[in-house]
Amino acid sequence: MASTTPGYTLDFDTFHNTINNVLTRTQTTRHTLDPSTEVPLPEVPVATQDDVDAAVRAGQAAFSAWRERPVDERAAHLERFADAIEANLADFAALLGREAGKPVQAANMELAFALGHLRATAKLRVPEVVVEESEERTASVRYVPLGVGVGIVPWNFPVLLGLGKLDAALLTGNTFIWKPSPFAPYSALKLGELGALVFPPGVLQVLSGDDGLGPQLTAHPGVAKVSFTGSSATGKKVMASCAATLKRVTLELGGNDAAIVCPDADLATVVPKLGALAFLHSGQICMDVKRLYVHASIYDAFLTQLVAFVKTLKMAGAGDPDAFTGPVQNSAQYARVRGLYADIAEQNWAVALGGLGGEGPHRQAKGYFLPPTIIDNPPDASRIVVEEPFGPIVPVLKWSDEADVVRRANDSMMGLGASVWSADVANAERLARRLEAGTVWVNSHFELAPHVPFGGHKWSGIGVDWGVEGMKGWCNPQAVWVRKL
Ligand code: NAD
Repeated sequence: MASTTPGYTLDFDTFHNTINNVLTRTQTTRHTLDPSTEVPLPEVPVATQDDVDAAVRAGQAAFSAWRERPVDERAAHLERFADAIEANLADFAALLGREAGKPVQAANMELAFALGHLRATAKLRVPEVVVEESEERTASVRYVPLGVGVGIVPWNFPVLLGLGKLDAALLTGNTFIWKPSPFAPYSALKLGELGALVFPPGVLQVLSGDDGLGPQLTAHPGVAKVSFTGSSATGKKVMASCAATLKRVTLELGGNDAAIVCPDADLATVVPKLGALAFLHSGQICMDVKRLYVHASIYDAFLTQLVAFVKTLKMAGAGDPDAFTGPVQNSAQYARVRGLYADIAEQNWAVALGGLGGEGPHRQAKGYFLPPTIIDNPPDASRIVVEEPFGPIVPVLKWSDEADVVRRANDSMMGLGASVWSADVANAERLARRLEAGTVWVNSHFELAPHVPFGGHKWSGIGVDWGVEGMKGWCNPQAVWVRKL
């Protein structure tokens, strides 16, 4: 397939790294499998240390001119980049669907949000702040770019998470190397090619590789900053590697988000929302609802309605336009999550819906499908409550004492998001403010916007992405003292 829009024509069948605006090949290549069908996808490059060195050199060379351009000019480049993506939108949606196992509506949603993110971020500015102004002197703080930035992203939102780092990095005057996940490198590589038509050489580069590439980038002395999104376990390795050269680091890590449903919540309203928020992208979103705490007085009714609602969510391959959610994204994750399903019988958990026994796309010979599964009130210490499943399986837990449910929601090393659901908004906000998470919501969850920063507390991360606060993470603050003699 190929886009036909003049100026931004792309071939979506062959894939290259983009280094210094040149499309490069590597001696070794690899490919992934379409998670809906297990059909092999095209070959992608496996970058070497030489490729990393070349990209870092090009990024350094481009930095001095790029940082000197007026911010409005850098913003105009981001707008043009968004136009170029938009010109290829249908092809990107199909590609993203195939590589990530996203049904059409989910792929379109990610792309629409990513485009909106580019355009909205292009309008943001990091203000210079005058801290003191007197007859004798002025002291102000400005924010200056760092140099070559690296964005390392996971496979669950391969476009949005990369673009959401790239836009802030470039707008603040850094150059950027994008390292997609080896499980979902395709869209990022095409976006790199498209970037070569928009940005000066060395400003945006994309490298795909195997498991060795991330460590090569985090260890490279020419890289000034690493912004990482992925698991907490890998985040710790990234931070340790970056420490050797004192790189700036932002870490967006795993989550185990709790949602607390209060006794006065209107079930007809909250059940469909929470059902969708728990199973969106088959539970493979850092901010999916992963622990549902429901008040004992409404627990049975809630569970019955939740089961009925989740049964209406169609799970099917990326090609099915009616599918709400698709397969688990890769075989390793599939094996891991299947282990949780295996625990159902072993741990004697009560199953309200799902498990591996029933009918569903998991019966197909191909595709990494696992049925939406709801576990009824397992013990707090069970794996399904303590660990981040990152698959379509969620526990519903009973609560009766407010202080106790806040304690249980906070009893986790994770602290990404949390929410409270109630008709009494003021009381819900009071509870939400007691939750230990980087984002708390009342009567919603996973509500995000390009101008609102997000990040994790505890083992869910360090620093924030998005918004002006996220942009500051791509800068060094500089204090400027001017004495008026
Ligand atoms: P992962 O940690 O396995 O991999 C993430 C990225 O890190 C990949 O690009 C991978 O190639 C790279 N990587 C692996 N080892 C590395 C190393 N030693 N040095 C440098 N880079 C390395 O995560 P995943 O399985 O791809 O993604 C799922 C996880 O991501 C979940 O825990 C999920 O909650 C989390 N996540 C967090 C957010 C957030 O915003 N907080 C968003 C999406 C996903």
